[in-house]
Amino acid sequence: MKKFISILFFTCCIIVIAQAQKTDQSKKAVAPNPRLVVGIVVDQMRYDYIYRYWNKFGSDGFKKLINGGFFCRNTNYNYVPTYTGPGHTAIYTGTTPAVNGIIANDWYDKSTGKNLYCAQDDNVNPVGSVAPEGKRSPVNMLTTTITDELRISSNMKSKVIGIALKDRSAILPAGHTANAAYWYDGSIGGFITSTYYMNELPAWVTDFNKKELAKKYLSTPWNTLLPIEQYTESLPDDNKYETVAKGETKPVFPHNLPELQKLNGGLNMIRATPFGNSLTKDFAIETIQKESMGKNTATDFLAVSFSSPDYIGHTYGPNSVEQEDDYIRLDKDIAELLKFIDAQVGKNNALIFLTADHAAPEVPNYLSDLKIPSGYVHERKMIDSLKKHLLQTFGDTLVLSYTNQQVFLNHKIIELKKLNLIQVEDDVAFFLQNMSAVSEVLTANTLNNSQFTEGSRYLMQKGFNAKRSGDVLVNYLPAYMDYMPTGTTHGSPYSYDTHVPLIFYGFNIKQGSSAEQVYITDIAATLAMMLNVQFPNGCTGKPISFLVK
Ligand SMILES: [Zn+2]
Repeated sequence: MKKFISILFFTCCIIVIAQAQKTDQSKKAVAPNPRLVVGIVVDQMRYDYIYRYWNKFGSDGFKKLINGGFFCRNTNYNYVPTYTGPGHTAIYTGTTPAVNGIIANDWYDKSTGKNLYCAQDDNVNPVGSVAPEGKRSPVNMLTTTITDELRISSNMKSKVIGIALKDRSAILPAGHTANAAYWYDGSIGGFITSTYYMNELPAWVTDFNKKELAKKYLSTPWNTLLPIEQYTESLPDDNKYETVAKGETKPVFPHNLPELQKLNGGLNMIRATPFGNSLTKDFAIETIQKESMGKNTATDFLAVSFSSPDYIGHTYGPNSVEQEDDYIRLDKDIAELLKFIDAQVGKNNALIFLTADHAAPEVPNYLSDLKIPSGYVHERKMIDSLKKHLLQTFGDTLVLSYTNQQVFLNHKIIELKKLNLIQVEDDVAFFLQNMSAVSEVLTANTLNNSQFTEGSRYLMQKGFNAKRSGDVLVNYLPAYMDYMPTGTTHGSPYSYDTHVPLIFYGFNIKQGSSAEQVYITDIAATLAMMLNVQFPNGCTGKPISFLVK
């Protein structure tokens, strides 16, 4: 009996110890989450800017992120068109326009026959302004974002806020369930929102707007931060590849902002200056502070986007002193934001990532002068000749719209005339394929019936949404665009538009870098693994293996 009791005791002890170990292991399986996630998107940032401007950067901005974080040096967009609305959506939904439905910034809406803006919502109203730019929400985005999933998984305890100068860059990242999204309205020189989120601006936002910071930033001329002769990474300040602002005779420093704003959109002019970034940084810091972000019981998420580099790139191009100065100043703004986050929650309690919504090509005229094949497309002329051809062949012009390099055909007329849609698509494709600036053309029929696995055709397919996209998709030759002869634009499937920086920093991130190719859609999947939440519901990306083990 004694023996039996001691065996029983011994067995019990083993069970208790095993049980204790089990609980201990299961505790380990649930890693703690960061207090705050800050997603930083730089609008129109090429990955090579990191290297190009490295010696001009201070130690607390981009360098701090790279020296203390993980740099994915070969991060690429995996769809076209590489624009701002789709870019921000892909980062946060972890999928491409084929699934998330944000096929461009604006597109021809087949159901209404009108143009639809990606963040347009006619059922909501502006809050903080009367500008029509206030009628905005994420209603056109078809899938959830990583920020939505964080909200759902925390039973809505996580606070999610999106901010940017551009409404789409604030709204789409913050998702459908955001606490708030704020964007800049030049008519009031401050940040506004819409009734999608709230009926009144919080008092702290009204107080921030009352400081009239935009006005203050625009009250002194924009001069280079460093002596101008030190801008050796750029073309001379006065060059023929830059757009001259209204009221100026040359695209050169100093840009007299107090004077120029009268002719260039008033307080909206801050967008195309580095001070648009500074204002965004000021507002980001105010948001974290006033909303006590990172001090709640659940993980909070601030999605911030710096829009000014895009406006500056469009005006002056990637080789301008203006863009170099913009990045040198942005580095300082990011440094200030990082310092504030460190002070607010501590480095290891904040997870920060930085990427871009697209990159940018060289100015085609500049490339031509370097004897590199490049040029301009005259889309209107091209489509006019297509319409003439279709009128001759089918007795009707048949084209409803050509937007974002997609031909939208008039299905009603095609049906009425008993034409074969596939034959019309093929005819349009054959005609456009013969245009000198066109590299390839894909029809909706081909896209619906085949699977491309690489190259620009793959990217066109991932950007093709069967419900929303056009009937024939066109790709131009590398370095060809429909744009002004100065400045630059983006949207193509080529590396110069798709290759962007991606850096993770802070919470549990080990320092390092990799040249392995990762895709923009991998960011949301990686964040989901780091935050232990569901993937966004349309996610097609994969967690980046060297970041999450
Ligand atoms: Zn742009």
